[in-house]
Formats: sequence, structure tokens, C-alpha cells
Amino acid sequence: MIRGTKLINNKNMSIKKTFKKIVDADYIYIPLVTYKNKNIYCDLKIGDYVYKGQVLAKSDDMYNCKVISSVSGTIKDIKPWIYIDNTMVNTIIIENDFLNKEKFKKGAKKNISKYTSSEIIKLMKDNGVVGMSGSAYPTHFKYGMDLKINKLIVNAVEDEVYITSDFTNLNDKPSEILEAIDALMQAFKIGECVIAIKDFNEIGIKDFINYMGTYPNIKIKKVPDKYPVGYEKNLASYIYDVKIKKNPMERSIMVNNISTIYEIYRVLKYERPITGRIITISGNAVKNPQNIYVKFGTLLSDIIKNIGGLKYKDIVIIVNGPMMGNSVSSMDIPITASVIGITIQKNYKDEKTHDCINCGKCVNVCPVRLAPTYIKKYKNHKNILKLLNPNKCIRCGLCSYICPSKIDLRRDVIDACEVVKNEDKY
Ligand code: SF4
Ligand code: SF4
Repeated sequence: MIRGTKLINNKNMSIKKTFKKIVDADYIYIPLVTYKNKNIYCDLKIGDYVYKGQVLAKSDDMYNCKVISSVSGTIKDIKPWIYIDNTMVNTIIIENDFLNKEKFKKGAKKNISKYTSSEIIKLMKDNGVVGMSGSAYPTHFKYGMDLKINKLIVNAVEDEVYITSDFTNLNDKPSEILEAIDALMQAFKIGECVIAIKDFNEIGIKDFINYMGTYPNIKIKKVPDKYPVGYEKNLASYIYDVKIKKNPMERSIMVNNISTIYEIYRVLKYERPITGRIITISGNAVKNPQNIYVKFGTLLSDIIKNIGGLKYKDIVIIVNGPMMGNSVSSMDIPITASVIGITIQKNYKDEKTHDCINCGKCVNVCPVRLAPTYIKKYKNHKNILKLLNPNKCIRCGLCSYICPSKIDLRRDVIDACEVVKNEDKY
């Protein structure tokens, strides 16, 4: 049994809509951020020429991730710029020369199933493969933990209600995705793989089944349309009917998002860095909602110009969808590997917040059994707050979604986590 809620689905806005590569922007903005580290040092300087795929900087933390250029051109500036979480971070601004100059040999590998596990981990690390579900968790680190992997779950659930970028990969790249899964299974000696797809996604399931004949150890599992079934821990415990305390790897289960698997395919096939991704641009303020391939560092404002603009001036911009995403104040955010999509909605100013009516809906809906209304109430009472366990929150946003008084409980719970975290420091 999965604890969750059926949400109103807005995927039809962008599903199967014009899919094209947008025209490159004149300037590309590459934030000096890897996973959660915003203190990345770059020893390049203004005026330096960079190649497409060149490593611009590296993190010196345990993840050892790379910041990679998505174009060739000249560094025009390195300065604080707005980031996808609405903070300012140091960003490399590159004037694009549109030549796509790179130092990699061209050509594709015929057979990707002959790599060893350590070769795959190295390729992932060198070419910047990270979790494409919005986490940007370094994939080489996940596979390099030296733990036995018995099962692989490919997460094609795509919970967010406006986002269809995983769906696009699922429909357009079934043979490539199966090839990459097979390569991983052979290299890491993984016995079985389950591709998890929401039960309403009949087209995606049918498309995949057509290609599966030669892979007997890869199966498709339909999962119920309940949010947040796609949350890694929930998905693994639903599929294998096991209890998971912290992470599916405690049961030797690896979970990868389907778009991450496609990036792994590209790296194994072409041995070149990841320099862009498919994202969904959707929402009722977008004239032509769609999925597009975007180079990392392209500004949202440049993308919107390219795809026909907006219907309204007064808008709300949400990075990664309304359930788990965050709002930003500017259209000038650069797209990174962590962006699965952008939802732009008309700003309904009349949607005022009301007092809590004690209906209990937020408590009933919470998939990890928290009491958001109490967490909000005791937000400034550290001792009570600790007993209410706000840290267990998976940031799914269901409490805010369900609240009839339009209270942003998710925000309150996240703030409460900070209070508890700061308290623990002393
Ligand atoms: S408290 Fe956290 S986990 Fe529970 S419904 Fe709200 S956002 Fe989701
Ligand atoms: S859902 Fe909203 S109104 Fe109902 S108890 Fe929770 S905070 Fe109060």
C-alpha cells in the first residue's frame, strides 16, 4: 500500500508538444555550483577562451564534481548572478562564438555493454553525469559506493503535475535507455531491473514494450497515480514490498531517474560531457508549453523569447514544478542539470491566505505522517518542534496543495527544519 494522493494532472499542456533544440543564446551563464556546494573556486579569468565540454572548475568536496562549459567562447565576466534557488551565486558568463569548438574525438561506440564498472564510474565522473530528477546528486558517487547492487529501479514515474521531460525521453529514446540499462546491469552484475511508470501512461508503456524483447531481466511495473509515489524511498518499498529506513541502497536497490539513464547512455556511447538536457516549459502563462533541449547556462528569458513568449505580465515562476519546486523572482535564471522544468503561472493576487480552520487535511495527507499545522503553530518553540520531527519532511508539498486556507505549510515545515538544525549546532 502506498500512502499518497491523486493530484489534478496538467501534463497534457506540454506532452507531445513541439520538441526542438532552441537557438543558442549569445551569452551563457554557468553557475559555480556542484550538487549543494556553492563555494567552487575557478582559476580561469575574464578574456580566457573556453571550449565546449571544457572543465571550468571542480569541487574540492567528497563528491569531486565538475563545472563544464556548454559552448565555446570567451569568458566575459565572473560575478554573482541569480541562481535557480533565488540566491545569488558566482557565475561564469561566456560570450558564445557559436562554433561549438571542442577537444573530443567525434564518433560513437558500437557496443556499450563491454565497459567494466570502474570504467563506467570514471566516465560518469569525467563527463558530469548527475541525477536528472532535480537532485543533481552525482551519479558516479552513487555507483562508486562499493555496495552490492542486486536490483535497479528506473524511475519514470514523474510525479510533478506539469512536467513531462521524463515522459519525452521515455517515448523518444526507448532503445537507447534499454541499451544503457543493459550496460549497467552487465558491468555491475545487477540481476534485475524494473522500469516504474505511472499506470495512466499507456503510450509510454506501449512504446517501451515494443523494444523489450531482447532484455528478459528488464520489466515494466505500473505504479498507481498517487503522489508522491516517485519519491525514491516510497517507490522502492512499493515495488519490492520492503521497509526502507533511509535509502534503497540499504536493500541493495539502486534507483535512477529515466533521464539520468539516458544521460548515462550518451556518455557511454559518445564519451563526451553532458552539456544540456530536455526540460519542460509549461503553465497557464506560457503561450506554447513544450519540451525542449536546452544547453546548460541558457537563461530562462532567452528560452521564453525563443518559444513564443508569455500570455501575461504578472506571473509566478516556479522552478521544477509546483509540488516540490521553488519560486524565483527573475526570468534571468540559468538552466542547470537540476532543472526538470519551469512552470509559469498567472499571478492570482486574490488568492489570499486564511486562518487555519483545523480541518486536519494536511495531517491526513502527509505521506511521512507529520502534522504540518502543528509544526507551523510551534515554529518558534524549539523543544516542541523537535518532537514533531520536521526533518522527516520530504518536501512533497501535499500539505500546501490540500490546505483549504491556502497556507504554504511546506514553507513553514522547511523553515522549522532550519530552526531544529540550528538548535542542534549548539
Ligand atoms: S510536511 Fe513535508 S512531507 Fe508532509 S505533506 Fe508537507 S511537504 Fe509533504
Ligand atoms: S489543512 Fe490548512 S486549514 Fe486544515 S488543518 Fe491544515 S493548516 Fe489548518
